[in-house]
Amino acid sequence: MRPSVLDPIFAPVTTLDGVGPKLATLLQTLLAGQTHTVRVRDLLFHAPSGLIDRRRRGEVATAPEGVISTLTLRIDRHLAPGRASSQPYRVFAADETGEIALTYFRAQPQWMEKLLPVGETMLVSGRVEWFNGRPAMVHPDFVAPIAEAETLALVEPVYPLTAGLSAKVLRKAIGQALAKAPALPEWIEPSVVKKRSFPGLNEALAGLHDPRDEADLAPLSAPRSRLAYDELLAGQLALALSRQRMKAARGRAFAATGAISRTLRAALPFALTPGQEKALAEIAADMAKDDRMLRLLQGDVGAGKTVVALLSMAIAAENGAQSVLLAPTEILARQHHAGLSKYCEAAGVALVLLTGRDTGRTRATKLAMLADGRAQIVVGTHAVFQEGVEYDDLGLVVVDEQHRFGVQQRLSLTRKGRSPDLLVMTATPIPRTLVLAAFGDMDVSRLEGKPAGRKPITTVALPLERLSDVVARAEKAMAAGDRLYWVCPLVEESEKSDLMAAEERFRQLSERFGDRVGLVHGRMSGEEKDAAMADFKAGRTQLVVATTVIEVGVDVPDASIIVIEHAERFGLSQLHQLRGRVGRGSKPSSCVLLYRAPLGEVATARLQIMRETEDGFRIAEEDLRLRGEGDLLGTKQSGIPAFRLASLEHHADLMEIARDDARLILATDPDMVSPRGEALRVLLYLFGKDEAVRLLRSG
Ligand code: ADP
Ligand code: MG
Repeated sequence: MRPSVLDPIFAPVTTLDGVGPKLATLLQTLLAGQTHTVRVRDLLFHAPSGLIDRRRRGEVATAPEGVISTLTLRIDRHLAPGRASSQPYRVFAADETGEIALTYFRAQPQWMEKLLPVGETMLVSGRVEWFNGRPAMVHPDFVAPIAEAETLALVEPVYPLTAGLSAKVLRKAIGQALAKAPALPEWIEPSVVKKRSFPGLNEALAGLHDPRDEADLAPLSAPRSRLAYDELLAGQLALALSRQRMKAARGRAFAATGAISRTLRAALPFALTPGQEKALAEIAADMAKDDRMLRLLQGDVGAGKTVVALLSMAIAAENGAQSVLLAPTEILARQHHAGLSKYCEAAGVALVLLTGRDTGRTRATKLAMLADGRAQIVVGTHAVFQEGVEYDDLGLVVVDEQHRFGVQQRLSLTRKGRSPDLLVMTATPIPRTLVLAAFGDMDVSRLEGKPAGRKPITTVALPLERLSDVVARAEKAMAAGDRLYWVCPLVEESEKSDLMAAEERFRQLSERFGDRVGLVHGRMSGEEKDAAMADFKAGRTQLVVATTVIEVGVDVPDASIIVIEHAERFGLSQLHQLRGRVGRGSKPSSCVLLYRAPLGEVATARLQIMRETEDGFRIAEEDLRLRGEGDLLGTKQSGIPAFRLASLEHHADLMEIARDDARLILATDPDMVSPRGEALRVLLYLFGKDEAVRLLRSG
């Protein structure tokens, strides 16, 4: 249960004065969207993006056009419009340098005379505009007698807004939210507070909403750093708790005997690369311990992770335990099954493919094999974890291409079986800070290098006007026996036009190349997709027009050219993934990025980076830089938390500290029952990590 101290800020925003249902709806849109019901807390965490500084006083003659100026003016005369006139009410005022008109539409003369009494010297602030050499200020933001000026807010924060919401109303609501912020016990380690000179939470919140100058808006300002740390600590603690929970269940010691892996290795048409051997050795060492394995295997596209997974699963099999290889899509599950089956057959390992497509008798037969232990390795989609799927003795779960799985799913993966070891494989080379953000303290193996003999991929970027050249080149390549992917644009607004683009391109290319052209897209049935991919793999088609369904993991080593239409619409990581479909065989490969001109700045940078490098790690880092951490892996799919206050770009060092601190906390107080543990529970709730608190025995 959420501690009651938090009640005032977890109350609905309508508990604030002047916030009715209409304003609440706007705040919902602005602050919470679809994620949760907006609460007072969300106002506290809504950071200003700028400030209006009215302290710098100006003079009429030199007040710049369109800029907010604060002027000291003597009020000279009022000019009220005639009753029927559409003219504004004008007040003429001046300083030594000149005269300015303060204009008000629909003003009440009486009220105006009280606001700006003739003869008085006033402080007037607002945007100055020049008309025909005469300055005017329409509806000054504020006016005050010079004597009272000091008491007024001369610096005001500027917040991101949403249509229909005024800055003034939002500022007022935030002010009220601040007044409701309860005093909470400090949860940050005293030495960290001291070393970083962190203000207390409420002081930090007050500071966040009261920037005095540009420096206060910087991510590294004291209030922002403190709040970022709070958020990162909450995240790391939540991850550490789930890790503690997963590790608590004792794992099992699987000793690699080599009985099965020797035969498997003998069946492989290649020797493992040193990088593969190293990763495998790390995995084997984990599996040999009776701690539970929680390991992330990072390896660039085409680095050869699958065979590492296979040999890891062989270790489980050598110990009489079953393994699951979980793929994000049906296509990938089938591909893995097809790829592994030749080796498994040679080694006499029973391999079963289980996907959502299995029904009736086949499904029943397969389930029986899983339940009685005949199936040693199960390859499949998330169907392998559905209800009713029982394992005799599940010892290892391998998740392929994890970035399609959320954190929640990852936790539920290991519920089957007796706390199986977990190996998560990702082709997206995630920068370290993101690994921490998404996985917390997971052990990481980096699969370095690529299988020998890979040729570099030549990448070119061409404007769409050169389409006919590209088609001519495709024709030549096909005549020489090459195979090509042709990826069609992702149109965000509508899945339908996405599809239409692919179908249209398919039609055009088919006209030219006949039945050597195939088509695969997300709306096709599983069987149709398989058939299209199988045709391409076997060379019955030489060119396959595809939507991004081929993005992840598809392995057709003979394909050597990929054309990506509207490359400007893809993110860097996605382009890298797509390009990774080629360059897998011994042929030199190429990638053609077709774009529609003119290119924006970011798109230009992306295409440039694609031309410069094939290094997935560098690409991931550039991607992080270009678009911010929010969407590196596609937040929606990845379960990578979107931060409100922290920024991975700026607070990476705080992330490391938070990780270490979280680890230390749980090492000394695993149930979080000490006073600091109690304080940290409040922190978890504050950042909505209720799930994590539930993982505590005494939560
Ligand atoms: P990814 O890491 O992207 O999942 P895959 O496991 O699909 O990569 O491997 C890519 C290709 O490289 C496959 O065709 C695979 O058979 C091949 N491969 C893997 N390891 C080696 C190796 N040591 N030597 C040669 N080819 C390899
Ligand atoms: Mg793969």
